[in-house]
Amino acid sequence: MHFRRLKLSGFKSFVEPAELRIEPGLTGVVGPNGCGKSNLLEAIRWVMGESSAKSLRGGGMEDVIFAGTASRPPRAFAEVVLQAGTASGEDLEVVRRIERGAGSAYRVNGRDVRAKDVALIFADAATGAHSPALVSQGRIAAVINAKPAERRAMLEEAAGIAGLHVRRKDAETR
Ligand code: ATP
Ligand code: MG
Repeated sequence: MHFRRLKLSGFKSFVEPAELRIEPGLTGVVGPNGCGKSNLLEAIRWVMGESSAKSLRGGGMEDVIFAGTASRPPRAFAEVVLQAGTASGEDLEVVRRIERGAGSAYRVNGRDVRAKDVALIFADAATGAHSPALVSQGRIAAVINAKPAERRAMLEEAAGIAGLHVRRKDAETR
């Protein structure tokens, strides 16, 4: 899977709609401290289905919504759009939106889907050699210090079988 474009609106410090093209090859994001580099990475993880507010440096999921500054009022929602090309050559567009008091909603190629469906898309994409792998600040130490069961979960995700576990759990609860 190749990520092509990221659009943000009201997400953390990206209060005005912003759009980024992600070209093939290596991409570097540079800028002064606090300009939003980590927020960009978090936007990618969020639209891919991140469900832990803590790993997005927030207390609750609504903390991803622009909270306002001295000169700007807070926003009522945050939305991130990720456009990608799949390994089989199809276009993929995933949209996640959160509104205050209303929780998250996802769309894939224009259709409403569940969080679980989005998680499966990316879990399955990890099967390929060009899998998306996001390592955020401090995670290297987390891998080194992980308990065996946690490390196994990471390896399974890297090996692309995380999607199978989600499906097995789902099948067992039916
Ligand atoms: P560094 O170089 O220090 O790692 P960075 O470029 O990674 O910095 P980020 O951590 O992405 O910067 O951005 C931090 C900024 O985002 C802070 O100014 C913080 O106030 C702002 N921010 C985070 N969440 C929100 C929010 N919900 N509303 C408004 N601003 C936010
Ligand atoms: Mg940072």
